[in-house]
Amino acid sequence: MVDQKELINAVKETVSREDVRYIVGYEEGTYGFETAPSFAYTSDDARKFIFNPLCTKNLVVYPILEEKLPLKREEQEDDRKIGIVVKGCDSRALVQILQEKGLKRENLVLIGIPCTGVVNTKKIKDKFPNQTEYTDVKEEKNHYVFSIEESVQKIPKKELLADVCKECEYPNPVIFDILIGEETEVETEPTYIEVREFEEKSLSEKWEYWKKHFENCIRCYACREACPLCYCKTCMADFLDPQWIRRSVDLSENTAWNIMRAFHLAGRCVSCGECERACPAEIPLMKLNKVLEKEIRELYDYTAGLDPEEKTLFGTFNPDDPEEFIM
Ligand code: SF4
Ligand code: SF4
Ligand code: SF4
Repeated sequence: MVDQKELINAVKETVSREDVRYIVGYEEGTYGFETAPSFAYTSDDARKFIFNPLCTKNLVVYPILEEKLPLKREEQEDDRKIGIVVKGCDSRALVQILQEKGLKRENLVLIGIPCTGVVNTKKIKDKFPNQTEYTDVKEEKNHYVFSIEESVQKIPKKELLADVCKECEYPNPVIFDILIGEETEVETEPTYIEVREFEEKSLSEKWEYWKKHFENCIRCYACREACPLCYCKTCMADFLDPQWIRRSVDLSENTAWNIMRAFHLAGRCVSCGECERACPAEIPLMKLNKVLEKEIRELYDYTAGLDPEEKTLFGTFNPDDPEEFIM
C-alpha cells in the first residue's frame, strides 16, 4: 500500500519548485471504480492526489500530448519540467520514448510508485454493476477491500487483478527521481502460457479467432489514444493521400488497422495493457502484443523500455541476428 501522506508531501514539495510547471497523478473519479488524472499546479492541488489499485491509466500520454503553442512576441518558452506519477510499466513507456527522443529526461520529474498490481476494471464493474459513486479500494493481505453501502466486501486479489499484472516483471519504476515507499518484490517471470496455447492452434482456427474479434472493432481508436507509445504526429490511419487503410469499418480494414498497429508497437510495447482496457469492443489486443513481445525476446533477447541509454530494437543492427524469415 502506498502511503498517501508521503505521496501528497512529495507532490507538494515537487510542485513548489521553481523549475516545475505541473505534476500529473491520480485523483478520485466521479463514478464507480474509476480514478481520474489529476493536475497539480500549486501545492494546494496536491491534496487531491491518491494512489490505489484503481490507478490503471498510463499517465505518460500527458507529457507526450503537450502542445507547443506559438509564442507571442518577446514571450519566452516555458521550459519548466513536467512531473508524472509512474508505476513500473508507465516508467518503461517513458524510457522507450526517451530512447526514441520523443521527450528529454531533463524536462521531467518522476515520482515513482512501487506497484503491486492494478485491478481489472471490467471485472469489478461486472461484480458491482449498480455502483455509481466513486468507491475506494484497499489492498490487504492478498485481498481487495471495498466499502460498499456501509458493508465491507473482501475479494481475493487473484479474482480481480488485471491480466497484465499477473506476470509483470517490472512493477518497480525503472527510472524515477523520488520513490514513494519500499520496492515491490518481483515474484514472477513471464510464461507466455496463453501465447503458447494459441500458437498450437491451426492457421484456420487462429483466423476464426481473430476474425470474430476484428469484426467487432468500431475503429474508435481508443486503443491508440490510451497508448503512450502511439504518439506519431499523424497516424497512418488518418492519412488520406496516400490512404494506407480505408476508414470504412469492415473486416478487411479492421484487420489491417489492428495488425498495422501491433507491428508498429513491436519492440516498443511495454505491456501496460492500456489499449486493451480502453477498447469498448473487448478485443484481446494484449494477445497480439504478447505474441510479438515473445518473438522479439526469443529472436533478439530484447525487452522494450528498460534503459534510456540503450538503442531501440529497430535502431540497432547485429550481423549475427537471425534472418531466416527474410525471403
Ligand atoms: S503491469 Fe506491472 S507496473 Fe503495470 S500496473 Fe501491472 S503490476 Fe503495476
Ligand atoms: S479501441 Fe478497440 S474498437 Fe476501438 S479501434 Fe481499437 S481495437 Fe478497434
Ligand atoms: S500497445 Fe497497449 S500495452 Fe503496449 S504500450 Fe501501448 S497501450 Fe501499453
